[in-house]
Amino acid sequence: MRHVIIGSGVAGIAATESICSVERGAEIIMLGDDPHGFYSRPGLAYYLTGELSDQALYPKTREDYKKLGFTYRKARVTKILRDETSLQLDDNSLLTYDRLLLATGAFATPLAVPGANLQGVVKLDHLNDARTILKLAKRGRTAVVVGGGITALELTEGLLARGMNVHYLLRGSRYWSNVLDEQESRIIEARLQAEGVTLHFHSELQEIIGRSGRVNSVRLKNGKTLKCDLLAYAIGIQPRVELAREAGLKVDRGILVNEFMQTDDPNIYAAGDAAQVFDPVTGRSILDSLWGAAREQGHAAGMNMAGRSTPYIKSIPFNVTRLAGLTTTIIGAVGHGRDDDLVGIARGDSETWRELPNAVVAQSGFDINHVRILVGEKKMIGAVVMGDQTLSMPLQKMIAEGVDISPIRDMLLAHDAKIADVIVDFWTKLKS
Ligand SMILES: Cc1cc2nc3c(=O)[nH]c(=O)nc-3n(C[C@H](O)[C@H](O)[C@H](O)COP(=O)(O)OP(=O)(O)OC[C@H]3O[C@@H](n4cnc5c(N)ncnc54)[C@H](O)[C@@H]3O)c2cc1C
Repeated sequence: MRHVIIGSGVAGIAATESICSVERGAEIIMLGDDPHGFYSRPGLAYYLTGELSDQALYPKTREDYKKLGFTYRKARVTKILRDETSLQLDDNSLLTYDRLLLATGAFATPLAVPGANLQGVVKLDHLNDARTILKLAKRGRTAVVVGGGITALELTEGLLARGMNVHYLLRGSRYWSNVLDEQESRIIEARLQAEGVTLHFHSELQEIIGRSGRVNSVRLKNGKTLKCDLLAYAIGIQPRVELAREAGLKVDRGILVNEFMQTDDPNIYAAGDAAQVFDPVTGRSILDSLWGAAREQGHAAGMNMAGRSTPYIKSIPFNVTRLAGLTTTIIGAVGHGRDDDLVGIARGDSETWRELPNAVVAQSGFDINHVRILVGEKKMIGAVVMGDQTLSMPLQKMIAEGVDISPIRDMLLAHDAKIADVIVDFWTKLKS
C-alpha cells in the first residue's frame, strides 16, 4: 500500500507517524514545496523577535525522520488525477498513490489594495517570509502593520524588536475585539503603546504608495498618509483547496471531510488547516486553524489511511500565546464574534468562539494578571487567562471535562468574588 502525503507541516508529519505506528514497513512518500520542510510555524514569531534561532524552529532531528523511514521529496503537486490515482508534480512527472492525504495548510489572505505588489509589502506565513522581513527590517526605519489578530501583533512585536518604529492600524475601536473583552484589549494596547507602538484606531488602508518599486508610504481611508519602508499584513488565512477543487472533490471554505478525515473520494483524506471537518458533536463542518488541531487531525487521518478506524473528536479550543509580552491562554468559547475586526481573527482562532451560548461573564483582574471566565448554567464555557498562568491548567480541564460547577457558581458570580481562589480551592478538592 502506497501512502502519499502532500504537505510537510504538522498535519502531514502526524499522519506519517500514525501510519508508521500501525503499518510497519508501509511505503510513505511525503511531498512538500516548502524548501525548509517541517518547522514550527508558531515559532516564527519568536524567530522574528530574535528569541529563537532558526535551528530551534525544527521540532524533529534527522534521527527522528530516519526512524520513521518515509521518503521525502521536495516537489509541488500541480494536479490530482483521480481516475489514474496519480499525482502530477511540478517537474511533470507522475506519482501513483493508493491512499492520498491533502495536508496542504493555508496561506495568508492577500492584500487587495493598490500597491500590494511593491517590494517591502510582507506577510508572515513561512520561514522564507520571516527571513525577508528580517532583511528588510535591517534597512528600514518605519513599518506599518495591518490586521487585528495574533499574527499582526506578532509582526508588530517582531519589527519593534528589530528596531523599527511601528504604526499599527486597527479597523475597529480596539484590539482583537471579537475574542478579547474591552479590558483585555486595553491591557494589550497600553503595553504596545508603552513599548513605543503608535496605534491608529478606525484606520484602514486605502493604498500603498511606492517609489522605484519600493514601499514609500501608505494612504489611509481617512485621508491620513504615513511614511514607511515596510508594510506588514495579517488579515486572515485561506485554506489551500485548489488541488482538491480542481480534482472535483467537495470543497466549502476548506476541503470537506467526514469525522474519519475522508473526503468524498474514499482514497483521499484531508487534515489540518486545509480541511473542514465534520464534527459529530455539533453536526457541523468546522475549520480549525490551530497547530494542536492540525496535529490531532493528521493523527486521525493517518490511522484511518492505515485501516484503523479512528474518528477525530474535536477538543475544546485551547491556545497559549503571547500578546504584547503577556502570556495569554484562551480556552473554549470566549468571544462574541460580531465585530468589525472579524477579518483579524486569523490565527489561533476557532469557529466555536463565534457561537457563544448565553453565558454570564465573571471576571477579576489586577495589573497584568487577569482572568475572565464564562459561566453557563452548570458548566464553564470559556476562559481567558493573562499573566499568571496558575489557573490555565485547571480551567482547561474543567472546561474540557464539562465539570459541574454548581457548587461554586454563586461564589464565582458574587460581587467582588475572588475568582482565582474559588477555582483553585474547588479544583484542589475535586482532585483530592
Ligand atoms: C506566524 C504564525 C503563527 C502561528 N501561531 C499559532 C499559535 O500560536 N498557536 C496555534 O495553535 N497555531 C498557530 N499558527 C497556526 C499553525 O501554525 C497552523 O494551524 C498549522 O501549522 C497548520 O498545519 P498544517 O500541517 O495543516 O499546514 P502547514 O503547516 O501550512 O503545512 C502545509 C504544507 O503543505 C505545503 N503545500 C501546500 N500545497 C502544496 C502542494 N501543492 N505541493 C506540495 N506542498 C504543498 C505547504 O508549503 C506547507 O509546507 C500560526 C501560524 C503562523 C503562520
